[in-house]
Amino acid sequence: MPAGSRPAKRDRPIGLGIRLPVPARSAWLVAMSAWNRFAALLALSTLLGPACLVRAADHSLLLVPDRVFTGEGAPHPGWKVLVSGERIVAVGPEVKAPAGAETLALPGTTLLPGLIDAHVHLFLHPYNEASWNDQVVKEPLALRTARAVAAARATLAAGFTTVRDLGTEGAGDADAGLKAAIDQGVVPGPHLLIADRAIVATGAYGPKGYAFDVPQGAEEASGSDIVRVVRSQIAHGADWVKFYADYRWGPGEPSRATFSLAELEAGVAAAHDAGRKVAVHASTPEGMRRAILAGADTIEHGNDATPEVLALLKARGAALCPTLAATEAITRYGGWSGAAPEPAGIAAKRASFAAAIKAGVTLCGGGDTGVFAHGDNAREEELMAAWGLPHLEVLRIATSGNAAVLGLADRGSIKPGMRADLVAVQGDPAAEITALRHVVLVIKDGVRTPR
Ligand SMILES: [Zn+2]
Repeated sequence: MPAGSRPAKRDRPIGLGIRLPVPARSAWLVAMSAWNRFAALLALSTLLGPACLVRAADHSLLLVPDRVFTGEGAPHPGWKVLVSGERIVAVGPEVKAPAGAETLALPGTTLLPGLIDAHVHLFLHPYNEASWNDQVVKEPLALRTARAVAAARATLAAGFTTVRDLGTEGAGDADAGLKAAIDQGVVPGPHLLIADRAIVATGAYGPKGYAFDVPQGAEEASGSDIVRVVRSQIAHGADWVKFYADYRWGPGEPSRATFSLAELEAGVAAAHDAGRKVAVHASTPEGMRRAILAGADTIEHGNDATPEVLALLKARGAALCPTLAATEAITRYGGWSGAAPEPAGIAAKRASFAAAIKAGVTLCGGGDTGVFAHGDNAREEELMAAWGLPHLEVLRIATSGNAAVLGLADRGSIKPGMRADLVAVQGDPAAEITALRHVVLVIKDGVRTPR
């Protein structure tokens, strides 16, 4: 349902996809107080299973954690947050519960804005379970979609209430269907920003090495055709347009820039004309340089960024999504236990992250989740903290920072008028980042998700 619109009271669904017949419902509901009605709906939702969430459009909820992280600065001890319907209506030390409101004590917890992961692939699962090639070529779309449904549920349960999915990797337009299913309340999941199939230079991506044409992990384009493909993907639901600006042409080769600057410029212009932002996979200095000059809004990975490229990125106002967790996960799949000495790839990634911090570029947080398990999204925040970023800055990036990069003005902060997307974690992640793993409550659009 669009933000700000609600069904009329008589038509309001009581659980996802479930409506009681009006006569039966009125006899059943009239005798109840508002609180009893809410409790009964909660109980009903439990009976109906985990996919069923409770709409409590007029319900007020006062949350009383130990402290509140609003999306920037230090957490505020003793603050409370009042939610009414789908919105946050008050935050501070003196907030009182209005008549009829429910008060929820959350001892020992920190309340944060719902976390945002800016780089996931819900249609991928960890590469140590099945290689990327096998997922793209051998797994039927129904299996991949069923996995994506489970991935969306795990993501929300981990406190990530918004994610940007940067391509279905061979699963066609299925992200648009999954997004619709979540928005319609058919299955639980975070708010999705989707990139549809993503766009690669003809012949540059994979799977490769077959004697016949096999399905590719993204849609191919070359020359002026890139504009048609951008528009087609937008028509299929893309909120973001994603290009791969570099890739390895053959096994064992290094990544090389693929699209020409002119191709990227045409594609980015077509996306921007349609009001869509652009994410570009780029690890090489030349791929990054072309993407930034073409007007990319975010650069994904940036592994081999040079000081010159980082300076250009900063000057053009793009953001860098370093996807530390993907590098770490893939290195572990290759046999690294995490023990010293660290492999060269990890040392290089750590150095490139330090250079990005030093250059003062805008960072966004997203681990390329899907390379590793969905629900394990906080791995990126843990690595950002372990690799030198102050905890409060990591928390800012995962909330208000990502919201700003993604152009989402209605979330990422706890203040009146914002979307009531919230997560409570046991402990204080400003002191110990792993507290992000200890999720005790997730609220999306003012609705508690079943746990
Ligand atoms: Zn990715």
